[in-house]
Amino acid sequence: MKFEAVIGLEVHAELSTASKIFCACATKYGAEANTQTCPVCLGLPGTLPVLNEKAVEYCIRAGLALNCRIADFSKLDRKNYFYPDLPKAYQISQYDLPLCRDGFLTLASGKRIGITRIHIEEDAGKLMHSPEGEGFSLVDYNRAGVPLIEIVTAPDLATPEEAVEFLEKLRRILIYLGISDCKMEEGSLRCDANISLKPAGAETLGTKTELKNINSFKALGRALAYEIERQAELLAEGKTVKQETRKWEEAKQRTLSLRSKEDTQDYRYFPDPDLVPVELDQAYVAAIAASLPELPEAKKRRLIEEYKLPEYDADLLTGSRHLADFFEAVLKDYCNPKAASNFIMGELFRLMGEEGLAPEALALNPAHLADILRRIDQGELSVSQGKKVFEKAFRTGASPAEIIAAEGLRQISDEASLRTVVTQVLAAHPQSVNDYLNGKTKVAQFLTGQVMRETKGQANPQLIKELLEEELAKLRP
Ligand SMILES: [Zn+2]
Repeated sequence: MKFEAVIGLEVHAELSTASKIFCACATKYGAEANTQTCPVCLGLPGTLPVLNEKAVEYCIRAGLALNCRIADFSKLDRKNYFYPDLPKAYQISQYDLPLCRDGFLTLASGKRIGITRIHIEEDAGKLMHSPEGEGFSLVDYNRAGVPLIEIVTAPDLATPEEAVEFLEKLRRILIYLGISDCKMEEGSLRCDANISLKPAGAETLGTKTELKNINSFKALGRALAYEIERQAELLAEGKTVKQETRKWEEAKQRTLSLRSKEDTQDYRYFPDPDLVPVELDQAYVAAIAASLPELPEAKKRRLIEEYKLPEYDADLLTGSRHLADFFEAVLKDYCNPKAASNFIMGELFRLMGEEGLAPEALALNPAHLADILRRIDQGELSVSQGKKVFEKAFRTGASPAEIIAAEGLRQISDEASLRTVVTQVLAAHPQSVNDYLNGKTKVAQFLTGQVMRETKGQANPQLIKELLEEELAKLRP
């Protein structure tokens, strides 16, 4: 029997607010354990939470970018469970009245993936377990109370590839919005996946499993592919799939049963009596909508139309808002978009890769790249010299003019002085000239090399070629 997969994602993104969601503690990643805590986020008796308005605003930004309806009335609820990473023994989240619902995100194929809801909630602390057998665990509450949004999709995804594309597109949007840095390796973007199989064409859904511990895009694709195969085998043998939570084991490239799946009733949700409901007026939401930046898909379309870039280039350049801004800043002083795009995708990407530099950390002055590209176009620098100057500008921040002066990197395009060198070289190598005139045109390469040597590599190669041909023609008997 042929099966179809039905996949939904639950994505958690840590919001990049300066302080936590219900207290004034800092949210900086990587601080010494338990240094960013206070009685509120430690859940001490008698403390009261105060909602961080920024967290609400950021959630609305995400909702608007993902075509959601924004609730004018929303509330916060307690989700109860006992675990040492949760100091209050409940997590403040949203249950039946989330801030955003009924949105969608469109894949490259044009398929719309429904966004069921987006809500705000607080993160839990982090447990560190002792090595096997030593029997203790440590807890760091720096993360407890860091604001999160949870984005829940409809079960509209049909393949691991669609799921990965969705997550990549979503990540790009959240970063463009400036509301999360979405670093999967630091846990600021986390993704759980629900997956079930049903016979091809069937209406009713099969039993789903929930996959956790997915720490990269690659892991998401592989975990889903593994789970599709596992469930298909069970069903083909006439067995049933158990509703459970399974853990992706990266080292063994498999999923493993973790626990039977909780129902929402297990969490005994109820409205948090310490927090007032969130009531939003339309003007407030409209002001946030007006402040949204150009989103990745729109930017990509515009780069294609405005600069006649191929889709491939536009896609790579809009991979980061900073990079796209950098590209457009270069074009303020330089008028060949495709040449700028090629240089960025080639040289800039290479150097950023070598340095492990994210586009946000790029300190290069776009006017410097424009300057280098103009000098290459005008023949003042050869392409390889241009790359050399660019690398120096990238590493030191110095201007191309400074670098060219310091390195003596000017390309000799002055015809008269180059012609003198060419005639000198021809006079010094009569044998080669003879060979050339007798049809061994390959020695032109040797002669070019000699001219390059005389000019310390600074001669314009195209001009050398032309002058050599002219001067050799004069020597023909
Ligand atoms: Zn605190």
